[in-house]
Amino acid sequence: MQKSPTSIYPPIDLVIPMYNEEKNIPLLVKHIITHFTPYFEQICFILVDDGSKDNTYEAISEIEIQSEKIKIDYIRLARNFGKDLAIKCGLDHSTSPLCAIIDADFQHPPEKILEAVEAIQQGVDVVHIVKKEYNFGPKYRKYGSKFFHKLVNFLSDYEIHLTDFKVLNQKAVERLRPFSENYYFSRGIIDFIGLRTTKIEYEPQERKFGESKYSFFSLLRLAVNSMMAVSVKPLRISIYVGLMISIFSFLYGLYILGEKIFLGQPIPGFATLGTALFFLGGIQLLFLGIIGEYLGKTFIESKRRPQYIIDYIQEISPEKK
Ligand code: UDP
Ligand code: MG
Repeated sequence: MQKSPTSIYPPIDLVIPMYNEEKNIPLLVKHIITHFTPYFEQICFILVDDGSKDNTYEAISEIEIQSEKIKIDYIRLARNFGKDLAIKCGLDHSTSPLCAIIDADFQHPPEKILEAVEAIQQGVDVVHIVKKEYNFGPKYRKYGSKFFHKLVNFLSDYEIHLTDFKVLNQKAVERLRPFSENYYFSRGIIDFIGLRTTKIEYEPQERKFGESKYSFFSLLRLAVNSMMAVSVKPLRISIYVGLMISIFSFLYGLYILGEKIFLGQPIPGFATLGTALFFLGGIQLLFLGIIGEYLGKTFIESKRRPQYIIDYIQEISPEKK
């Protein structure tokens, strides 16, 4: 699938969100420079520092750039805005005909970008690079992510590819620009814009250095936010559940009334009543919570705050070093 190094692709931007990646990022940038330079007219790294607390910037500024074809734009966000908004910031700065989004930690094998670019050259607009089966890391993450994938796709009206490893052409990047929501679910939105897409597979690697930035609870929060970002179906489900419980209660009422009239049995007492009361109370609180979450998110979106705040942008180029 890969072309010979003599064939040249148009310029590419590489959007890389980074949060405390001082050890990984210089290695990744060097790796890409070594392997990609012959293939592209120009390579621009858009390195979005999502409020790192380590020496990510220093590590990047020490990278030696020897070729005029390479450009590094370092964008420092004012604080940690989360991976999705860091990606959005990178995409907002992308102007090249091709744009790849890749994690900083080597879990996404960079070589797959060449395969994806080839597919874009053949006429697709977006290439989703999706995970194959893998066998490392905690089990709850593996199965949790599979379950989340199914749930998000059940809730969404369009198919969502749950991967942030993607290559886009400029048309796709342009279509993403107007999306200004604060709860920006990058993966969900890229599938929303409706262009020609294809998917290729990659074998995920273990993180090279450091640890995943997501604990169990932050993953859970991310999952809830993502589901609410793609759909209002949970609200509709509450109507169905409410309706089902009402019908069931009505039929049960008829049943005990029948028992009383035809069999002369006394109407059962507090146990049934208590159980039904707690059950309904629980359901009501649950759905009140869901409504509250949507309302809270609407409140935040209604303020129309900027999605992210850039502290500064630093161009790292051979001349400036
Ligand atoms: N990341 C980020 N902001 C965050 C968390 C993560 O920019 O708040 C970056 C991180 O540096 C990495 C990518 O997003 O390049 C994926 O993060 P991580 O490897 O921690 O996630 P996982 O692979 O475990 O899902
Ligand atoms: Mg990772």
